[in-house]
Amino acid sequence: MDFRLTEEQRAWQLIARKFADEEISRISIARDTIAEPRETFDWEIICKGSRLGLRTLGVPKQWGGPGVDFTTQAIVMAELARGDSAIAKTFSQCWKWCHLIMDRCTPEQQERFLKPFMADDGFVLGGGITEPNAGSDNRLPPAIAPKSGLRLSAKCEGDEWVLNGEKCFIANANIGKLIFVFTRTNPDVAVRDGTTIFALPMPAQGVRVGKVFNKSGWRFYQNAELIFENARVPHCNLMGVLNGAMKHQGGKNAKFAELEYSANAVGVCDAAVDMAMKHAKTEKRGGRPLADQQVVQLQLAEMHMRTEALRSFMLRVATESDDEGNEHFAHSHFLMNFATEAIQRVCNLNQTIHGYADGRHRAGADKLVRDAIIWTHIAGDAVQRMKAVSFLLK
Ligand SMILES: Cc1cc2nc3c(=O)[nH]c(=O)nc-3n(C[C@H](O)[C@H](O)[C@H](O)COP(=O)(O)OP(=O)(O)OC[C@H]3O[C@@H](n4cnc5c(N)ncnc54)[C@H](O)[C@@H]3O)c2cc1C
Repeated sequence: MDFRLTEEQRAWQLIARKFADEEISRISIARDTIAEPRETFDWEIICKGSRLGLRTLGVPKQWGGPGVDFTTQAIVMAELARGDSAIAKTFSQCWKWCHLIMDRCTPEQQERFLKPFMADDGFVLGGGITEPNAGSDNRLPPAIAPKSGLRLSAKCEGDEWVLNGEKCFIANANIGKLIFVFTRTNPDVAVRDGTTIFALPMPAQGVRVGKVFNKSGWRFYQNAELIFENARVPHCNLMGVLNGAMKHQGGKNAKFAELEYSANAVGVCDAAVDMAMKHAKTEKRGGRPLADQQVVQLQLAEMHMRTEALRSFMLRVATESDDEGNEHFAHSHFLMNFATEAIQRVCNLNQTIHGYADGRHRAGADKLVRDAIIWTHIAGDAVQRMKAVSFLLK
């Protein structure tokens, strides 16, 4: 495979690199150390990035976006995440849901949802699937288990749908202006066959933001509960086909999910490698630089090796994703698990090289370790993701 970047890809990479170096890195640690989870977020960085086109990177040209391919999105993601993984994710969360809009919406809906999104630097998107008793079950659902998966109900009344139930961990739920809510429109069949998506402009009557989760990692990123009490959504906001949310095969949104997290992990690994190299060259223990000690050299070598292996695998899946005819879902799930192992190992080694004494953890090594833990618990969980092998066994 040819991983050389085009001129356009290189240009986007440089925009993202400059923004990460000059703007994101500057606020990353300060935001991470704020105790109250609702206050870690910062609109200024989002609006600045938006003016560079980083919020709307997932929008096709026909709706005023740059219409870049998956490889470009992955490269930009890795650069932004080098500055701060959670801030990067706040941008890419918008790209991800724009892909869903393009996959599932009618042209009339696309215009209704994308026009205000394009016009407003403070317009972010979110999607609600997870519930207190349904996480991975929603993504890799058991074939026949009607009781499994999300339960938030949507019942038709005239030309409206009435929603009742609860979502948790929903990114941007407390700050987003449009949230895609996955509802159980047929509770008697498997979640795969009875789920419908509604686009919900926020704030909405009958929808309450509950707790904002006080996470150990990705502290900038807002994750909140949404409580639905007879919330009404017009029928014209039903996306795609009734009961068809999880039957839909392929599409840009599905291709993007694991690639997005894995590209983000590449950026975090790059940050950890940079940090560890600098520390090992400048810090002395036993009268000589840490980098002179063989055990530290082995740790640095392993960090480089895992980071470069992840980058290659990620670029391969990005390239495959740009190939319209290619539906290699198994590769992207395996990439996601490979990324999970790589980011956690690389960040732990960085922490080991830094040590934990004398407050040096504030320099960011422990932040990367805390951020890296998230990979076990997103996009399904690391164990359930291995069910992707079923795609290969068919
Ligand atoms: C930072 C962050 C951001 C997130 N953002 C969003 C968001 O924007 N929108 C959203 O909808 N969700 C979001 N989530 C939720 C995320 O998608 C879920 O956490 C993830 O799907 C895993 O679900 P869970 O945590 O409920 O774990 P579970 O799926 O409940 O897994 C817990 C344990 O049970 C095991 N298990 C699960 N299912 C089975 C089974 N069928 N058989 C046997 N064992 C099983 C798992 O292997 C695991 O060990 C976010 C989560 C995090 C951490």
